[in-house]
Amino acid sequence: MYSEELFKISKENMPGGVSSPVRAYKPYPFFAKQASGSKITDIDGKTYIDHCLGYGPLILGHANPKIVEAITDQAQKGTLYGVPTENEIKLSQEIINRVPCADMVRFCNSGTEATMSAIRLARGYTGRDKIVKFEGTYHGAHDYVLVKSGSGAATHPDSKGIPESTTQNTLSVPFNDEEALKELIEEEGNNIACIIMEVVMGNVGCIKPKKGYLDFIRKLTIDYGIILIFDEVITGFRLSSGGAQEYFGVTPDICTFAKILGGGLPIGAIAGKQKIMELFAPNGPVYQAGTFSGNPLSIRAGITALEQLDKSFYDTLNKKGNLLRLRLKDNIEDLGLNLQVNGIGSMFQIYFNPEPVTNYTEAKKSDSDLFTDYFHELLKNGVFIAPSQFECCFLSGAHSDEDLEKTSYAIEKSLKTIYQK
Ligand SMILES: *Cc1c(COP(=O)(O)O)cnc(C)c1O
Repeated sequence: MYSEELFKISKENMPGGVSSPVRAYKPYPFFAKQASGSKITDIDGKTYIDHCLGYGPLILGHANPKIVEAITDQAQKGTLYGVPTENEIKLSQEIINRVPCADMVRFCNSGTEATMSAIRLARGYTGRDKIVKFEGTYHGAHDYVLVKSGSGAATHPDSKGIPESTTQNTLSVPFNDEEALKELIEEEGNNIACIIMEVVMGNVGCIKPKKGYLDFIRKLTIDYGIILIFDEVITGFRLSSGGAQEYFGVTPDICTFAKILGGGLPIGAIAGKQKIMELFAPNGPVYQAGTFSGNPLSIRAGITALEQLDKSFYDTLNKKGNLLRLRLKDNIEDLGLNLQVNGIGSMFQIYFNPEPVTNYTEAKKSDSDLFTDYFHELLKNGVFIAPSQFECCFLSGAHSDEDLEKTSYAIEKSLKTIYQK
């Protein structure tokens, strides 16, 4: 059967035909058959260069041979024990070695769980209820943070089913705006448990922090006894071996990981300073638990992924990212267009917007309809990216120079087509 037919059936079995909303683009999404390295193949027989990469986790590309070997071996030894394993020590130690804020690690199963637990931990530690997030950041699909979030929620505003009483303690401010944050903290600072942030916003496209902004936030949080949480679910093990905190040289109190950490399998983790982390049950009074937490397959895949992600890996990958962005800018200029090429390291996105994009409000002014045309043209030209202006595109170590040439050519060709319409 073809994707079109399968999607009809799929919609009868599953709401919207998908297991996560962003996957349901119109008229129907392609159904995956298999994937390898930088490429994904659909059941209709078409192969694409993949810059969606599972929305970020696949920094080593699809079906990385060493990870396949490791999880095959692990599957034969059991996939769930319900008791601790030595491999959990190994992976936590690797995180502690790499990540500046990490004295201790708690494993869980997703980024959503990680940020939910990190916020609970900050509230437990400080005894305060209020939390601060930034407009357009996404911290997963749980109730505390589904307020002015990015990703799916940026295009489908405000979820039903969340009582106002749940989010009344969730305060939002614009990103990259020191004044707005300062004003809020001067007023509410002593009631605020934590500031949770994506260091680089990756769920409204891709937006970097302005120079000095992170230092400003770090100082402010110290002054008011506020826990600073870096949600590194995208940037962790992507920007550098110690994540965005190492890349920018600013150390939070707690951080969260997921995506890349599982080597392509489901995982989440909270890492942070010992005096805070020790508050998690069973040592402390902050409850956090999970049947599959630290599950042997994900842990094994994570260890095998991190083994391959050394400094030289990031040097090479980030250079490729720089080169691609430069090429895209050149091509866009040659076409006489005025679009924004945002990005950092191996992250990039083109905004259909004539003005620079440095926060959520500016991102939302982009032309999403034009983006959708661009997305479909790219598919025709053999490149798959996330089907939303408000997601980020990624590179993996499996993308060859030839892949990137093809990608930039496909982007140029697609832009030409949509602007001729
Ligand atoms: C994807 C994402 C999450 C949620 O992770 P899931 O594993 O999808 O639950 C949280 N924070 C950020 C920054 C993310 O990009």
